[in-house]
Amino acid sequence: MHKELNVSNENLSREIENYFGQGDCFLLSRGRVCLYAGLSGLALPRGTQVVMAGYTCMAVPAAVQHAGLRPVYVDIDPCTYNLNPALLADVTNQPIGAVIVQHTYGIPAAITVISEWCASREISLIEDCCHLFGTRFEGRPAGTFGAFSFMSGQWNKAFSTGLGGILLVNEPLLASRIRSNIEREAIRPSALRNAFLSAQMLAFDLLVGPVTSGLLAEVYRLLNRFGLAVGSSSQQELNGCIPEDYLGEMAPAQARRGSRELARIEQNLSHRERLTAFYERELPGIGLAPLANELSRKLPLLRYPVRVSNKRELLKKARSRGVEIGSWFETPLHPFGTRLEDYGYQLGMCPEAELASVQVINLPTHLKIDAATAEKTVRFLHKHARPVAHCKTEGSCQSGMRSLSAAGESSI
Ligand SMILES: *Cc1c(COP(=O)(O)O)cnc(C)c1O
Repeated sequence: MHKELNVSNENLSREIENYFGQGDCFLLSRGRVCLYAGLSGLALPRGTQVVMAGYTCMAVPAAVQHAGLRPVYVDIDPCTYNLNPALLADVTNQPIGAVIVQHTYGIPAAITVISEWCASREISLIEDCCHLFGTRFEGRPAGTFGAFSFMSGQWNKAFSTGLGGILLVNEPLLASRIRSNIEREAIRPSALRNAFLSAQMLAFDLLVGPVTSGLLAEVYRLLNRFGLAVGSSSQQELNGCIPEDYLGEMAPAQARRGSRELARIEQNLSHRERLTAFYERELPGIGLAPLANELSRKLPLLRYPVRVSNKRELLKKARSRGVEIGSWFETPLHPFGTRLEDYGYQLGMCPEAELASVQVINLPTHLKIDAATAEKTVRFLHKHARPVAHCKTEGSCQSGMRSLSAAGESSI
């Protein structure tokens, strides 16, 4: 098992380093664990602030807290759904150790402005690349701009290893500290876990399609709850504790899948590019606004975000008709049910993100969505989606958030 782990994991690490043309790659059990390992390597003083957009997965601020640091939130630019660099000036009253830049939905963030801001203050830049894989902008692939970047291998991310995480470290000294931490502390997956993960990947490939995804996600959550499947978040984690086996290495079965995925990455990305362009073309004709970002037309988005005024009702209808439509992010710290205050988030901190949580649905671009399915999705939206009014008021956003939290709909 250990020999196998070494070979499969070594292979994928080298392939990824070659793909990006730089950096040291580490393969861990999940994206969040990569963030944790990277932050631990930075060795910042306890309680140091780490800035991020208040429009992310709760796994991100949780990893920051597990590393003994404090998450601080900056609102998003409503056009790109990414951290709004103009607001960084507002958080400088206390020392900041790092800024996490997430390329939401695969839309590149304002990386040049943010990295200059960080460099002039000796703040580390971290890229959250869980929504894209290797997209090039400003002349370089995403993931190569900061001290380190991390990607998620979760089922519905750009590069799936059926759960898993990829850490790309761009500074040699940091990489050697991270390497020794991992060698000392990381847990190697047991043969049983490896077998479980293999079986899950097989089941996923055979069973999950656009029509079945909603129902199967429910079954998967249930199995995970009873310890019968390896899920993204354990119960311990949802309660805010750091699980004992948090810092884990990727299993060899996942690394082998990663190598297969990497071999067909161009096919994956060009498929996503075609579907992104398709949604972009079709949305205006059915009264919905495409992305305001000109760039997006040529990007392989992970999900195409659309604002609607009847999000909850629309998602319910989509599920009952077997149309795959995503809901992330459901709150500034996805998913529903996250106790925002446990992660230092107070309602009202990021009004644009709160409004987006209430309005934005997302359309899939993955390989199981063929042209006919994408057309069906657009027809469904034409019939059932209600566009948002142009004027946005902060008041309606806040009350929207309250009524959503009051509904207490949990979909972890
Ligand atoms: C999914 C996701 C993560 C966490 O990835 P895991 O592999 O589930 O730990 C982090 N950031 C973003 C933006 C994500 O979408």
